[in-house]
Amino acid sequence: MSRKFNFSAGPAALPEEVLAQARDEMLDWHGTGLSIMEMSHRSDEYVSVAQQAEQDLRDLMAIPNNYKVLFLQGGATSQFSMVPLNLLRGKTSADFINTGVWSKKAIAEAKRYCNVNIAASTEANNFSSAPTQQELTLSSEAAYVHYTPNETIGGVEFDYVPETNGVPLVADMSSNILSRPIDVSKFGLIYAGAQKNIGPAGLTVVIVRDDLLGETLPGTPTMFDYAVHAAADSMNNTPPTFGWYLAGLIFQWLKRQGGVEAISAMNQRKAEKLYAAIDASEFYANPVAIANRSWMNIPFTLADAALDKVFIQEADQAGLLNLQGHRSVGGMRASIYNAVPEAAVDALTEFMAHFEKTRG
Ligand code: PMP
Repeated sequence: MSRKFNFSAGPAALPEEVLAQARDEMLDWHGTGLSIMEMSHRSDEYVSVAQQAEQDLRDLMAIPNNYKVLFLQGGATSQFSMVPLNLLRGKTSADFINTGVWSKKAIAEAKRYCNVNIAASTEANNFSSAPTQQELTLSSEAAYVHYTPNETIGGVEFDYVPETNGVPLVADMSSNILSRPIDVSKFGLIYAGAQKNIGPAGLTVVIVRDDLLGETLPGTPTMFDYAVHAAADSMNNTPPTFGWYLAGLIFQWLKRQGGVEAISAMNQRKAEKLYAAIDASEFYANPVAIANRSWMNIPFTLADAALDKVFIQEADQAGLLNLQGHRSVGGMRASIYNAVPEAAVDALTEFMAHFEKTRG
């Protein structure tokens, strides 16, 4: 068996060590004679796994006690509706910062429930930067401010946390949660689909300040009410038990790497290497403003788009998988989440230099 380097945007690479552990525990979890997938979510064994995962995430992100951590289903996309259903709390508008594809999807869904004020948009520059704090036009009447700290497709990442003057800040951290330290107390709510830095697809993590719970829009389905999930420790119905378990293994792996500080230093180094390779060449290009270049998702184009297919083919043969850009934009994209080793980036930059020399 030889595992290849996986640059997929999500579902994405998982640490080999964790996959091996899950394999070893698969048939007989800790001497119970069952796999974790075959156990009741209400068994003492499973509840201890679930609680440990929550505690480890709390430790890793230093989540304050007045925040609930929810392990839900439905993907980040369900949060596009769950957020307005729960956080409007009698108000009729919300502020949104528009920095790309994922912001736009969140905006479109929120419009079903409230007035959306676009506090800033970088659409005019083709979403190649994030707006500065000074460029945000926030309204004091907004129920919350929503933004996407890392746009997975555009590769645009905020280099600061917006100041919202007491209005709850909501962040879609699907593609950069756990990639660098953040101060959770600056946020009203953080959500993330798991399939990048947390674990397998099928699990969605929500971190929400507890004073924001309990006032949903009339008609909100029970399963879309954060307070219901919080009161039931995310077991109002059968939770995604395997995903939650595997997320727990990832959190323990992350702790063994030295936690978020340590992985952040590695992520920065990985990203800087790849951007340096792109910038040093006339053949490769990345359009994003330097300050807003993502550490997680790095799109790049070739000087001759006719070579895109060959690039992907030869990269594949070299064991570098899933480098094709999002179907909506084309070009290339290397997603280098926590579980993508530095050796993968080294192999990619070597391949890029070789490709440029032989084909460029
Ligand atoms: N937001 C962001 C920033 C994403 O990258 C994605 C998935 N790529 C989503 C939302 C949608 O996530 P899901 O597929 O889990 O609904």
